[in-house]
Amino acid sequence: MVRKKSKKKELVPPTPAQLSKWDRKFVWHPFTQMQEWEQDDPLIIEKAKGAYLYDIHGHKYLDGTSSIWVNLHGHRHPTIDKAIREQLHKVAHSTLLGAASPPSIVLAKELIKIAPKGLSRVFYSDDGSTAVEVALKMAIQFWQQQSPPAKKKRKFVRLDLAYHGDTAGSMSVGGVKLFHERFKPLLVDTISIDAPYCYRCPLKLQYPSCEMACIDPLEKELSSRHKEIAGVVIEPMVQAVAGMITHPPGYISRVRKLCTQYNVLMIADEVATGFGRTGQMFACDHEKVTPDLMAVAKGLTGGYLPLAATLATEKIYQAFLGNYDEFKTFFHGHSYTGNALGCAAALANLEIFLAEKTLAKVRTNSRLFKQLLKPVAALPIVGDIRQSGMMVGIELVKNKETREPFPLTARIGHEVAMDCRKHGLLIRPIGNILVVMPPLRLTVRELRLMTSILYRSLK
Ligand SMILES: *Cc1c(COP(=O)(O)O)cnc(C)c1O
Repeated sequence: MVRKKSKKKELVPPTPAQLSKWDRKFVWHPFTQMQEWEQDDPLIIEKAKGAYLYDIHGHKYLDGTSSIWVNLHGHRHPTIDKAIREQLHKVAHSTLLGAASPPSIVLAKELIKIAPKGLSRVFYSDDGSTAVEVALKMAIQFWQQQSPPAKKKRKFVRLDLAYHGDTAGSMSVGGVKLFHERFKPLLVDTISIDAPYCYRCPLKLQYPSCEMACIDPLEKELSSRHKEIAGVVIEPMVQAVAGMITHPPGYISRVRKLCTQYNVLMIADEVATGFGRTGQMFACDHEKVTPDLMAVAKGLTGGYLPLAATLATEKIYQAFLGNYDEFKTFFHGHSYTGNALGCAAALANLEIFLAEKTLAKVRTNSRLFKQLLKPVAALPIVGDIRQSGMMVGIELVKNKETREPFPLTARIGHEVAMDCRKHGLLIRPIGNILVVMPPLRLTVRELRLMTSILYRSLK
């Protein structure tokens, strides 16, 4: 008998040209004008190591945005790689609805250990947006389940220019016109107060002689309307998407005090600031503030897998307890809640913080980074550099004296970012602000390289 030749085809990997063509034909990219995208050869990242990304042509780039603010210890860190592989030998995913799993249990315990004191319960979800959404829903239900019920407490106070995600609830507490305005029909009404944007102070004052006058409207709103306010939502210390607006020292403590005074919940969105970015594990730690609810995501798995959590105080948790027929249950959950691979990666992430003394490294790195950025700050196009730990925003201006901004249509940030890319640095601007947020443990050489590329492109 003549054996027929095997019909099984070897899977031929697509060529770079095919990938480029198919991406433009089939993929709809986030926050991207696709008409423009289709006309260009897309950057296609194939692999990575440490702080570097490699495209399909073998070009090497420093990951200056930590792959949009998620990566902490570099790519392909052996500890996280290994943790995921080991978990894969057991199970990739099992549900938390009606069952528990070892990685999600241990991670919750570890998170509570490092979280601001007083947070005691962990509710898992998948992304920053969902973690915020969960916090908002918990807040609303919490007030309904007081005795007597405070059903009128259902409004949220938010800061102008805030960003908390792209789902309806998280958009409602956002304040970026360009992203949120058009979805108004979907959103709930919120109370907005000015952001403490010192470089462009809404009150035209100067810190510290202003005595943080920008927070007075918060007190006014809370004192007159606290009976209808469920909570104040805030990105503590750094409003990242707004352009790395760094809050003056004492700001979040004041917010905490006011929330306590007027009996509204403080909801801290640590999605960008959490896990060491600012030099402390959480931004709230700088002022020893404990929010009532805290959302974490981006850095939670070290930038490996989508996993998020909303942390709550015992007081909030207790308000949801009762007999089944009281219907105090929190009816919320996602298919992949508490995913085992994600939790295993997150546990490895936390292990690295201890093993490599990451927080101390962030502090020395951010001091050096600040030093290296001095010549950049002196450039005529650079209006302001705002830095908190390894989170840096460089605001570009048309006129340094008058602080006149470039029109958004000039796309100056985009132009600089494209030039940086040519020289091997990937960054993603937000309008006129260059956001630089590299992995936490860059070497001195990498830091110098990054700053010199920035300097060259800006010049
Ligand atoms: C990125 C971000 C979010 C949204 O997180 P996703 O994971 O993109 O949904 C929410 N809040 C802040 C402060 C963020 O930076």
